Amino acid sequence: MRLVSKVISVLIFLFVSIFAYSQNVIKYLPPTVILKDSEISPEEGISTESEVSLEDDETISLDSLINLTSLGMIDSTVIPAAKLYNYVWDNRTVNPYRQRVADMPDTFRIDFSQYCHPNKNTVTSDFGFRRGWRFHYGIDTRLKTGDSICSAFDGMVRIVQRGRAYGNYIVIRHFNGLETVYGHLSKTFVKVNQVVRAGEMIALGGSTGRSTGPHLHFEIRYLGHSVSPREMIDFENYTEKCQIFELNAQHFTYVKELEEVRYYTVRKGDTLSGISKKTGVSIDKICQLNNIKRTTILRIGQRLRCT
Ligand SMILES: [Zn+2]
Repeated sequence: MRLVSKVISVLIFLFVSIFAYSQNVIKYLPPTVILKDSEISPEEGISTESEVSLEDDETISLDSLINLTSLGMIDSTVIPAAKLYNYVWDNRTVNPYRQRVADMPDTFRIDFSQYCHPNKNTVTSDFGFRRGWRFHYGIDTRLKTGDSICSAFDGMVRIVQRGRAYGNYIVIRHFNGLETVYGHLSKTFVKVNQVVRAGEMIALGGSTGRSTGPHLHFEIRYLGHSVSPREMIDFENYTEKCQIFELNAQHFTYVKELEEVRYYTVRKGDTLSGISKKTGVSIDKICQLNNIKRTTILRIGQRLRCT
């Protein structure tokens, strides 16, 4: 009798284990990873990118897929804001989403209540057009190499790698729907797909990549597009401006502006008056847009913003 009950309990145990295992396998299937072709291929003389340039740091390769699937057992349900990002989770590309600004939701409420300032230092360069024609997708704060950098919110690390422009950089997806980028780091302490907490030290600041001195390049992105961090953060007091931030189409008008920007590439023998005639833009306007004087000597190959 004892033997029979033992056999029955072993059978029940085996049955339950097999069932539980099959459930786990379903639960831990890798998330959908949608790979996109590289979106940036600027025409000659026309560029929409910046000092920290997607052209330099965005190369989409099969590596991102291999990287993720080799991990095998990643649970798609733990990826922050997975549905909002259409289940795209890419470990290589800052903006793999190809989200058209026109198709974005009208307003999106973002919870800022757990915000932690990544590095409490002075702003040295703001978000927006720089020197008239380059666009800066983040905000820079001065620091000393080795200063600690913290995650702005709870989230999951999406990218840790080195790029020509960003240097060593980290991208984190947060549960509130934002992504943050931390560039020019001297040392990183996190790995891809690692969960991090708001305020957790993720790296040390530095001057790697295209940088003229130690600083943190910090970006806030929503569905791949940068937003001016000053809209949401008080950089004097290192705090959020409000608990719930309403993001809307107004915050992305620069994208359209960038799409409309046209450049002229200086050729041999060009003069400002010649360029003005060719482009139909006044000399004063060209000077203003490019922050140059009428007497500035033009270099062959130099790109001048014309609109
Ligand atoms: Zn920067």
